[in-house]
Amino acid sequence: MRQSLYFAAMLAAAMPTFADNQKRPPIIDMHMHGRTSISLDENGQPRARGCMPQPCQVAVPPMAQSDEDVVPLMLETMDRYNIVLGFLSDRPDRVKKWIVESPGRFIGATKFDPDLNVDDLRKDYESGAFLGVGELGPLYWGISIDDPRLEPYFQIAEDFDLPVLVHLQGIGGPTKAFRIRTGHPELLEEVLRRHPTVRVFLENAGFPFFDEMLSLMYMYPQVYADLSTITWIVPRPLFYDYFERLIEAGLDKRLMFGTDASGSPEIFGEAISAIESAPFLNAKQRRDIFYNNAARFLRLSDEEIAAHHER
Ligand SMILES: [Zn+2]
Repeated sequence: MRQSLYFAAMLAAAMPTFADNQKRPPIIDMHMHGRTSISLDENGQPRARGCMPQPCQVAVPPMAQSDEDVVPLMLETMDRYNIVLGFLSDRPDRVKKWIVESPGRFIGATKFDPDLNVDDLRKDYESGAFLGVGELGPLYWGISIDDPRLEPYFQIAEDFDLPVLVHLQGIGGPTKAFRIRTGHPELLEEVLRRHPTVRVFLENAGFPFFDEMLSLMYMYPQVYADLSTITWIVPRPLFYDYFERLIEAGLDKRLMFGTDASGSPEIFGEAISAIESAPFLNAKQRRDIFYNNAARFLRLSDEEIAAHHER
């Protein structure tokens, strides 16, 4: 496995709180994807992660230099930061591959795709292959979350009592059909009324729709949120501004750590460091966001929690 000294130095720099010989407390990553290959830039080199706004001012070099690096480096980096559980969303075939690669470490979930056969999908859930639903990101197709095409996914979540990851916010990957207005968190309200028992969590706490998220989370206690891509894709002061307002609003028990890492292991250290360095958080809030809130949302058993803490 190729890994330059530069990366080792970068990773060390991204770990401000814990020395290598000090065991870090467990972390749950509520937002991961199952990419198994690298992407190349116009010069045929491994592509560095993107950022907003364009032009991207941050150049974080990619750790994985070949497709063979991706899975081992992702798992190795999760070990390094003691990420004990990951909510892994992707195409069904990819998710199954990752679960085989590291049994017990992932909650497998199937992302929304209008071309997916929902009857086959239901069979996968009946067989117990997946324990989560999502990421549901219909705005990449310009589709609204309350569209009937999403209904089978929410019905599966209700029937099997599974958590659902929803991508509703004002930013996302650059697809042609992406429409900001289909990312409006208020669009979820009718779905929540139709499926009141379903536990839903929204990527990036609906960034930057703060007011709408506040209404949604105050009115619907079953709604949680992750802090994933915004820990690294937008300028840090902007992330902290949004994050601090959520904390001031009293939502520290409903926010969960995530990375949105997809074949990019360098993101784990960046995302963790963003939470660890947030000056307005106390130690209890930090642990809640890294682990306790997700453990409650996922309804982990006392035994699972004890095992994660090696008690
Ligand atoms: Zn995602």
